[in-house]
Amino acid sequence: MEELKKKIREVPDFPKPGILFYDLTTLLKDKDGLRSVIDILTEKYKGLGIEKVVGIESRGFIVGPGVAYNLGAGFVPVRKKGKLPAEKITVTYDLEYGQDVLEMHKDAIEPGQRVLIVDDLIATGGTAAATVRMVRQLNGEVTGLAFIVELEFLNGREKLDGYEVFSILRY
Ligand code: AMP
Repeated sequence: MEELKKKIREVPDFPKPGILFYDLTTLLKDKDGLRSVIDILTEKYKGLGIEKVVGIESRGFIVGPGVAYNLGAGFVPVRKKGKLPAEKITVTYDLEYGQDVLEMHKDAIEPGQRVLIVDDLIATGGTAAATVRMVRQLNGEVTGLAFIVELEFLNGREKLDGYEVFSILRY
């Protein structure tokens, strides 16, 4: 795990002063790094009957499809407002300052389907919790939530109480 951490570039004061940004592009461009994160997530969730992997825009789109492919599941994108063309559901959630909106196609998940939610990083957990709300609204069953990086000091898990949350690397 320390080897994987070394592949992540830490950029101070991005996108604004005081934020330490975990830049995963340096991990993902590394063939062993990319393989490791997809293999770890595949091992963790194989055999659990996952039917849909839901990836959160935009960095959930990078790892999600690889894991879905390995699990024999479909891939569903959660997108920012105004990007999806067909009938959709919408969720509004609070940011540090203001609010944001995420959307998912209404026919993306069938009732009772087992869903794995994937993103690159969990910080406050707001984005992941909003995604859980949409999956629940479509009567999907959230089998788990998986992240490459978890910023534990922000207590994002508390917003996902009752759900199985997994992260590969913790800070
Ligand atoms: P949150 O809703 O607070 O859990 O924020 C999660 C989203 O913001 C994820 O999609 C991350 O990609 C991004 N994010 C938040 N904080 C950071 C950070 N320090 N470094 C990199 N990405 C971050």
